[in-house]
Amino acid sequence: MQLIRVALAVPLFRFFDYQLPPHLNAVIGGRVVVPFGTQKRVAVVVDFPTETDVEAKQLKSVFEVLDQDKLFNTEMWALLHWAANYYQTALGEVLFQALPVKLRQGESAAEKTKLFWQLTALGQQALEQQQTGEFKRAKKQLEALKALSEHVLEKGNHPFSTAIFSRLKQKAYIEEIEVTPLVQCWQQTLGEKPIANHENRLVLNTQQALAFSQLTFQAGFAVWLLDGITGSGKTEIYLQLIEEVLKKGKQVLVLVPEIGLTPQTVQRFKARFNVPIDVLHSELNDSQRLAVWQRAKTEQSAIVIGTRSALFTQFANLGLIVIDEEHDVSFKQQDNFRYHARDLAIVLAKQCDIPVLMGSATPSLESLNNVKNGKYRHIVLSKRAENAQHLHHSVIDLKQQVVRNGLSERLLQQMNKHLQKGNQVLLFLNRRGFAPVMLCHECGWIATCQHCEKPYTYHQHQRVLRCHHCATQKPIPRQCTHCGSTHLITTGLGTEQLEQTLASHFPQYQITRIDRDSTARKGKLEDYLTDIQQGKSQILIGTQMLAKGHHFPDVTLVALVNVDSALFSLDFRAEERLAQLYVQVAGRAGRAEKQGEVVLQTHYPEHPLLQRLLTQGYTDFAEQALQLRQQMGLPPFSAQALFKAQSRHAEDAEQVLQQIATYFDTWKQGTDSRLQILGPMAAPFSKKAGQYRWQLLLQHTSRTQLHHALSAFQATSTIKLGSVRCVLDVDPIDLS
Ligand code: ADP
Ligand code: ZN
Ligand code: ZN
Repeated sequence: MQLIRVALAVPLFRFFDYQLPPHLNAVIGGRVVVPFGTQKRVAVVVDFPTETDVEAKQLKSVFEVLDQDKLFNTEMWALLHWAANYYQTALGEVLFQALPVKLRQGESAAEKTKLFWQLTALGQQALEQQQTGEFKRAKKQLEALKALSEHVLEKGNHPFSTAIFSRLKQKAYIEEIEVTPLVQCWQQTLGEKPIANHENRLVLNTQQALAFSQLTFQAGFAVWLLDGITGSGKTEIYLQLIEEVLKKGKQVLVLVPEIGLTPQTVQRFKARFNVPIDVLHSELNDSQRLAVWQRAKTEQSAIVIGTRSALFTQFANLGLIVIDEEHDVSFKQQDNFRYHARDLAIVLAKQCDIPVLMGSATPSLESLNNVKNGKYRHIVLSKRAENAQHLHHSVIDLKQQVVRNGLSERLLQQMNKHLQKGNQVLLFLNRRGFAPVMLCHECGWIATCQHCEKPYTYHQHQRVLRCHHCATQKPIPRQCTHCGSTHLITTGLGTEQLEQTLASHFPQYQITRIDRDSTARKGKLEDYLTDIQQGKSQILIGTQMLAKGHHFPDVTLVALVNVDSALFSLDFRAEERLAQLYVQVAGRAGRAEKQGEVVLQTHYPEHPLLQRLLTQGYTDFAEQALQLRQQMGLPPFSAQALFKAQSRHAEDAEQVLQQIATYFDTWKQGTDSRLQILGPMAAPFSKKAGQYRWQLLLQHTSRTQLHHALSAFQATSTIKLGSVRCVLDVDPIDLS
């Protein structure tokens, strides 16, 4: 009897054994369909064991084998095993996350044939003899026939309705044909064309050239941190290094942050290279994602650009991984399999013995520390590539000033100065809606979401109160629930209100507001960006969405309207985030020949972080921040793992974490006294969408030792969760 061991997409740290009927052949790393409870489930084969703990009569049979070849190449298989172990996530969950949705559902991994419509001889005849008047009342049919006389049309991928085609088929004017797609290596598709277009290739300046020669000199695995200010020409270096890699016949993976995957970015790659480039963006459907996966695996694409999960694309011949904006938090997945794409990319590159090139104007403290440790190589670009003009930074102290709706007199004057010169100004405010709080002027009652115990945001435009944490909304109340007064007011500033205030102050200028609300409709963001590019609007208001990726050559003034809350956050990373945000936002200004200016409004101009950042710059700030982290024993000088529990009943969540804490207390006493255990404690964000949230933080100066403790716990844990949802986040970056 042939035994087979499989991993299923379930959060259980175990595999499942089945019997493989003699007429079936399966492979390790391929999929099978198995009975699971009363269901049929897709599973991935991990082993052919010679014995099993399952009793013979309990042992069920595999229904079906889906793959004759393994789905994972050696490097990806090794990476995913490593990741499951490192992030303490069940292998089944990890393997399935790494597959395109269609494959998780059991679809064939081979490229599918496509169906096309083509004209028949009869159809051709009908088209030629149309004077008979046959199509007089069927203009669309005629149009379809005409289109088909030029070329075949793919089924379901043409502008005509299906009804028209079925009628034409009835008349035998058209027929279906099945076409197997041609699998052609990307190099063959190039033909006579060169890999890269050299018309728009720039001559590297001295700093860039030095960086480039270092990068090309090194062969095999290495991690490079390209630490260059915004506009210093990092992207040009990516492009030229990619060209070198492509010339060797190898493929390239480019990882970008969610917010950085803009049409502008993609356009720059497509303009430079003639090779097939696939982009994994959020608007692709599952079939398109599967196609991208297949094309990379069969070497049909040369470059894949995508966000976090693009890391799981498999390549026939990968030669380089580029990570743009390596510090960006969107590289860390925040649910299920909580991996960090940058960190996994480095593990993958090591498996493949290829370089990783990471770029940022504001490298993470983790990466800067790895430079110090000698793990990463550091390349600094300190000059703007296009012009030598440096930004002018200044701070407006809001204390004891007349501030109307968040805008100081001085800021308004500055704006006026820039606008009068015909330039654009950008105001950054990371809070959408009209106002973050609505309250009763008589008794102080605050309109609060009871699921999250946080104030509702007041949305004037849509006339609703909306919770930004759980997305519930309700109509704007007329009266205070507490005292019945009708004197309800708002406090605090959101982008809607900022827009309104500016419109009354600068009636002669056009304003564009870019946030999640204003760009909810598809295509809106692109429209707005075009307006800005063409100078149709002069005042831009934006949240995080505008902070990176977009270049606005005519923006000469950037103002951060209010960042005070970040200065007093409980999260030890808040200062690093603020510094990165400041530099990113500032980087939108003055990219052309014009002198740019950055203004920050704050009540705390004397805050040491701000001082350091504004007077000395990010590198110096980072140096000091790292020293502080070291003194306090915080990451990257220690490793963390966070257990998060949530439940409708606060006591249940706490109780589960208390049991986990007891386990680690015992471990600490018996095995490793250096393990630090913090909690259980209520999470800073203690209730969300009706769930009470608790945390238990483990910290250790040795990553390996922390990992030992976690593995031991995972292997022996017998904690009953009941209705509590408990997850483990290794290297957490969200401590809220
Ligand atoms: P980064 O990615 O560091 O922000 P980019 O590569 O986007 O920088 O370059 C910023 C601007 O400078 C772009 O408009 C780019 O075309 C230009 N640029 C980059 N390198 C050079 C160069 N060597 N010579 C002239 N212009 C350059
Ligand atoms: Zn809520
Ligand atoms: Zn009241």
